[in-house]
Amino acid sequence: MDLNLAPDEQQFRDELSAWLKANVPAEWEQRREEPVQERFEFMRAWQGKLYAAGWAGVSWPKEYGGRGASLMQQVVYWQELARASAPPMANELGLGLIGPAIIAFGTEEQKKLYLAKILSAEEIWCQGFSEPDAGSDLANLKTEARLEGDHYIVNGQKVWTSMGNLADWCELVVRTDKNVPKHKGLSVLLVDMKSPGLEVRPLRMMNGEAEFCELFLTNVRVPAQNLLGKANDGWNVALGTLMHERATLCVLFQIVFRRNVDRLVELSRIIRRNGRPAAEDPVIRQKVAQCYAEVEIMRLNQMRSFSQMSATGVPGPEGSIQKLFWTEVSQRLQQVAQELLGPLGQLDAADRRAIDKGMWIREYMRSKGHTIEAGTSEIQRCIIGHFVLGLPKSY
Ligand SMILES: Cc1cc2nc3c(=O)[nH]c(=O)nc-3n(C[C@H](O)[C@H](O)[C@H](O)COP(=O)(O)OP(=O)(O)OC[C@H]3O[C@@H](n4cnc5c(N)ncnc54)[C@H](O)[C@@H]3O)c2cc1C
Repeated sequence: MDLNLAPDEQQFRDELSAWLKANVPAEWEQRREEPVQERFEFMRAWQGKLYAAGWAGVSWPKEYGGRGASLMQQVVYWQELARASAPPMANELGLGLIGPAIIAFGTEEQKKLYLAKILSAEEIWCQGFSEPDAGSDLANLKTEARLEGDHYIVNGQKVWTSMGNLADWCELVVRTDKNVPKHKGLSVLLVDMKSPGLEVRPLRMMNGEAEFCELFLTNVRVPAQNLLGKANDGWNVALGTLMHERATLCVLFQIVFRRNVDRLVELSRIIRRNGRPAAEDPVIRQKVAQCYAEVEIMRLNQMRSFSQMSATGVPGPEGSIQKLFWTEVSQRLQQVAQELLGPLGQLDAADRRAIDKGMWIREYMRSKGHTIEAGTSEIQRCIIGHFVLGLPKSY
């Protein structure tokens, strides 16, 4: 495995890093801990700026407004954004999942209608997959779409729709045939969130934010030309969408986690336990060192995975290992942070005594969702057990 960058990757990195140095808004440091709702327009403007400079959707093919970046260039992209502490983009699901699905399965007309506005964040997208009885077992979903003339009539309910309250469009998985095995009767529709009959109800999360939503659909009319891919081939379209979810973005998390560990080391020298710096407490030292080692393992496993993918062109089982590992490292790291910070760790941005503007409690609470979203840890273990170890299926 060669960990050195090729000349074109180096050039890509230098160009991006110079651009970020000149363009990451200084204001971001002040706004970082605001609720998503309040900083959303700021994130939209930031994505617009990246787009105008050709730095949004770098993995997308050039003909659709991307850069056609190689796998290693994508890795470098996330590394540089993390190193520059750049703000997140407003349309992350559109850029990372739904745009690539439209590129893979969409008609030319759909590509023309949606892709540029996804890149520029003019239109925000959400992903309407999960339902109260369909999460890990997505194919069990019940939301139904009936073709009547040139429209689908959609009825049902979705849940855990991230950004549902801010989105203009939704990639919605629906059941279009009830008389075939459950994986075979699904289709994917591109649904205007302003459609009559579509009600969005935000769910308040434990950190007080409400970016998660329930969607209730009652006789929602969706033009038949908004079908993505073929009718009743929705399982393949949905899997094609989810495949993108575990790709290169985790590089950004590794760098953020490493920065967090470095910060914990600094804090352990300042914060006192039993009258002495916490850094002198043998248990805290062990735990912080363990975090450091795990974040380093995460980096090396990523490099192994990308090296494998560059050589073979297909994601290997390391993808599931990565998802399983980084999400659990994230929770262990946040747990250690809380143990180190003590009661101070629970103060949020509203309290002026909060350390790092309340980042630690926000991240602690957010990390709980990591092992659930994009396939739970148990499902990742099932995938590893079955596809890597060749064990029989568990369900
Ligand atoms: C932060 C976050 C963001 C999300 N965003 C979105 C979104 O934008 N759009 C969307 O559609 N969904 C979204 N989801 C939903 C997410 O995809 C589901 O929560 C996830 O797939 C799990 O489904 P479930 O919640 O129904 O749990 P269930 O599938 O009911 O699982 C319950 C428990 O049983 C375990 N389990 C289930 N099946 C098996 C099995 N075969 N073997 C062993 N254990 C099993 C699970 O691991 C889990 O511990 C989001 C979730 C989170 C936490």
